[in-house]
Amino acid sequence: MSEKGKTQDLVTKLYENRDLTDEEFKTLLETDEYDEALFEKAVQVRKEHYGDKVYLRGLIEYTNYCKNNCNYCGIRKSNQNLERYRLSKEQILECCKEGYELGYRTFVLQGGEDIYFKDEILCDIISDIHREYPDCAITISAGERSKASYQKMFDAGATRYLLRHEAADDSLYRKLHPGTMSLDNRKKCLFDLKEIGYQVGAGFMVGAPYQTTENLIADLRFLQELEPDMIGIGPYIKHKDTPYKWFSNGSMELTLRLLAILRLMFPYVLLPSTTALGTIDPQGRELGLQAGANVVMPNLSPVDVRDKYTLYENKICTGEESAQCRSCLEMRVKAAGYEVVTDRGDVKR
Ligand code: SAH
Repeated sequence: MSEKGKTQDLVTKLYENRDLTDEEFKTLLETDEYDEALFEKAVQVRKEHYGDKVYLRGLIEYTNYCKNNCNYCGIRKSNQNLERYRLSKEQILECCKEGYELGYRTFVLQGGEDIYFKDEILCDIISDIHREYPDCAITISAGERSKASYQKMFDAGATRYLLRHEAADDSLYRKLHPGTMSLDNRKKCLFDLKEIGYQVGAGFMVGAPYQTTENLIADLRFLQELEPDMIGIGPYIKHKDTPYKWFSNGSMELTLRLLAILRLMFPYVLLPSTTALGTIDPQGRELGLQAGANVVMPNLSPVDVRDKYTLYENKICTGEESAQCRSCLEMRVKAAGYEVVTDRGDVKR
């Protein structure tokens, strides 16, 4: 068979089976030879399931306090060079109001693992948002909590939860995280969330320190086991106030390749083109859409706290008002040939 024939074969096989052998995944991940065919197929599959629609989710970064000390993350507990903030319920509701007026019908509340936000406090905020905006989906991304806590938030009105598994290989997970955290607990949280009935998002960083191709294949295998509704991936980007500041950033090319592979493995999945991707390359998010992504998450946080939610360096969109952020992203999505939609955009299994 000709070289071109072989190339098409592997991508076609992934498209048809939604799966490959470890060896085939390795081949696909380690060369750019298949990229063109991959992106083309991924866009086709995304179109079959979601048309040209790109869903907007309004992101509210409600606290940068965190009790954890992840080795890659700029808001880790030990970072003393960071001014900490937490939004009040009134501020969070104000963000929702602004977002609602801009057309958003999904609010994502993301934060560090801030012990101030006990169940009662978080649930009170969730039920207020739910009461005022019953037509909106409430997504929480507040890290690892007990199953009882997840249940209370669900009962208060949250229906989606984002918790990246970060690394499905145990030894890599341990290199990236402090000894107080474990992959077993992370996985348990994800399965608890699913059992309760949440739409669940998992994911990982691309090009994280020490990550190998085998580690990435382990991530793909874990996702097959979990079958999440959403998958968040973005390049690792260094931060000067972390122990891993010496590692280089993950690559855009590999991130795009993985987005396309994920689209072919999970045709129905909601797949964001992330801020991190837009940070390592000015065209990153547009290229993400052209590799099969179908979600973007404009920032709705108050402008005066934006530059304090510094997971990594040079994070984009920290200076703009929400309305500017919305129109900028809308322009970009349209220019890339897609249609911005603001409805809740539930997963289409
Ligand atoms: N506390 C929440 C939210 C964490 S921040 C939780 O535990 O889920 C959201 C995501 O940002 C993380 O899951 C991580 O994958 C990503 N992130 C953190 N530091 C990063 C870095 N330096 N570069 C790229 N992504 C990073």
